[in-house]
Amino acid sequence: MNAQCYVNEVYNDVVKRNGNEPEFLQAVKEVLNSLVPVLERHSEYIEDGIVERLVEPERMIVFRVPWIDDNGKVHVNRGFRVQFNSAIGPYKGGLRFHPTVNASIIKFLGFEQIFKNSLTGLPIGGGKGGADFDPKGKSNREIMRFCQSFMSELFRHVGQFTDIPAGDIGVGGREIGYLFGEYKKIKNQYEAGVLTGKGINYGGSLTRKEATGYGLIYFVERMLQAKNKDFRGKTVIVSGSGNVAIYAIEKAQELGATVVACSDSNGYVYDKDGIDLDYVKEIKEVQRKRISEYIKYRPQAEYHEGCSGIWTIKCDIALPCATQNEIDENSAKILVENGVIAVGEGANMPSTSEAVSVFLDSNVLFGPAKAANAGGVATSALEMSQNSMRLSWSFEEVDNRLKKIMINIYENVSSAAAEYGCEDNLVLGANIAGFLKVADAMLQEGIV
Ligand code: NDP
Repeated sequence: MNAQCYVNEVYNDVVKRNGNEPEFLQAVKEVLNSLVPVLERHSEYIEDGIVERLVEPERMIVFRVPWIDDNGKVHVNRGFRVQFNSAIGPYKGGLRFHPTVNASIIKFLGFEQIFKNSLTGLPIGGGKGGADFDPKGKSNREIMRFCQSFMSELFRHVGQFTDIPAGDIGVGGREIGYLFGEYKKIKNQYEAGVLTGKGINYGGSLTRKEATGYGLIYFVERMLQAKNKDFRGKTVIVSGSGNVAIYAIEKAQELGATVVACSDSNGYVYDKDGIDLDYVKEIKEVQRKRISEYIKYRPQAEYHEGCSGIWTIKCDIALPCATQNEIDENSAKILVENGVIAVGEGANMPSTSEAVSVFLDSNVLFGPAKAANAGGVATSALEMSQNSMRLSWSFEEVDNRLKKIMINIYENVSSAAAEYGCEDNLVLGANIAGFLKVADAMLQEGIV
């Protein structure tokens, strides 16, 4: 069968089965469109139904998460874990706690994770999970009870050789600690490799906290280098002020850039002399407050309500590090009009399909999420290695490995793009390079 017809048929089937899951369909469509030139060369992938198997999760678990707040009131949330593809290793992917979590969000994230994990070069399959729980405004004890209830069901589906969750939006070191404690109690064994993003004193890896943000900057640095450019003296915008954003800002500043803005889900701050990261860390990591507090520390900065306004600030490099679809076509056009030279996706799928087309058509250097933000999961896999060996590497050791992995991802993605005729299209390159390894493993493992 002709490759384009095959892809159209598979996509139509995905729409029929998952019609009410827009984010999942968006992620599938982008990948499938990239695969046509590969399928034209490899009819064996069509014969073995690789693509129709790839778009259907191996397993999707949905469960009730009841918990009791500090006033004794009972609440019920919905928990999810999608175990999408285990061709190259155990399922691996974060947990997201956010009120917008639903099956579509979890499936889009799990699907993307298959290719991202493959790009790291490490033996990890694709998974993702979470709950429609809102951690904002909850006490530590409420967070703990929620995490314990969540794990009292999840424990039967995860394990160091089966499925290894980590953090994502709303799930950081505190939550991973509570989840790990509950797992350990239920299983009555110290299985350090069952979760990553753990605290340093109980099996965590140095550099894991910084890894996604640092990895993003290493990737973008390499992408700039290919065009004889670098971060020095550049004006940078970073959306979000969570784990990924904070450490992207830190490394970009270290490389000589001026980061002038960051945000949260209520609004953004603009500090033309450069964001003072110590204040952002204090507000977000210590006090867990809103980014609007920043102007109390830096009265010369501006705070604006609403998120999308951040993309109207003139910059050389834009790093969306908050959430999916935060840059739409209009914001992308404004960025281009304002002279942006590079966009690196720290968040998962932060640019709509239309926005991606604007960047590619305008020759903006564009680092897609599944390549550019793979440093987090890569370092999680390094945490698993250290757990298996029962030893801990130094910060420098892990950071050096992370840097090598990100440079390697860039090389693989850009050479796949060149091989399939679109040298500067890293979206195509990432989808193809990520797909090939998984597809070959699926071929070799038979139709399962
Ligand atoms: P955090 O929860 O630490 O931070 C998320 C940040 O994004 C916060 O500033 C949050 O604001 C903001 N945000 C969340 N939802 C929205 C929204 N709907 N609109 C606008 N802003 C929003 O999460 P992470 O930093 O870990 O994750 C950020 C992104 O990076 C996600 O897309 C995640 O999937 C991706 N990612 C994370 C990895 C990791 O290692 N942590 C690895 C790879 C990708 P507020 O405080 O108001 O909620």
